[in-house]
Amino acid sequence: MDLTASGSDIERVIVTQEQIQARLKELAVQVERDYAGRDLLLIGVLKGAVMTMADFARALQRHIETDWMAVSSYGSGTKSSGVVRILKDLDRDILGKDVLVVEDIVDTGLTLAWLKSNLESRGTKSVEILTMLRKPEAAKVDVNVKYVGFDIPSEFVVGYGLDFNEKYRNLDFIGVLAKHMYS
Ligand code: IMP
Ligand code: MG
Repeated sequence: MDLTASGSDIERVIVTQEQIQARLKELAVQVERDYAGRDLLLIGVLKGAVMTMADFARALQRHIETDWMAVSSYGSGTKSSGVVRILKDLDRDILGKDVLVVEDIVDTGLTLAWLKSNLESRGTKSVEILTMLRKPEAAKVDVNVKYVGFDIPSEFVVGYGLDFNEKYRNLDFIGVLAKHMYS
């Protein structure tokens, strides 16, 4: 769905579809270079990272494997709870693998810090993180995010996989949700 169709629910656009695709191509080139000669497993974090994973994986001009995890940190609101739960685990063993976690957004970073150490405890060779978006809060947590699409202000955004109560994931851009939609 595009901006026109989304009506007054969106206050303003943060990243356009064109900007997303261009940035993913740049990140793909970087990842191809960094992992040259090594197998690579992309782990997408459901459900927010579905769009990023789909477009990033296709931007890569090399073979990869994919797997998915689902974790919960937010419940249905707009504030991070800090409590992480595995809702769906990986299908396969990741012992000895080079892993790149694909995320939609790093806000407090609590989810990722937890996820990274969880994956590392399974005997991976390496675990790095790629996120489409990063908020300023993320700087406070000691988790190294190697590949960042866009640094954005600390506002609640939706679209391109990101939801508010499961809605807006199908926007083809990323925008700030109008305040009247949740307050
Ligand atoms: P963190 O633990 O605070 O880094 O948040 C991680 C998760 O919260 C993300 O993977 C998203 O699912 C969700 N989240 C954080 N900020 C936003 C936002 O602005 N819009 C929608 N979801 C968000
Ligand atoms: Mg997420």
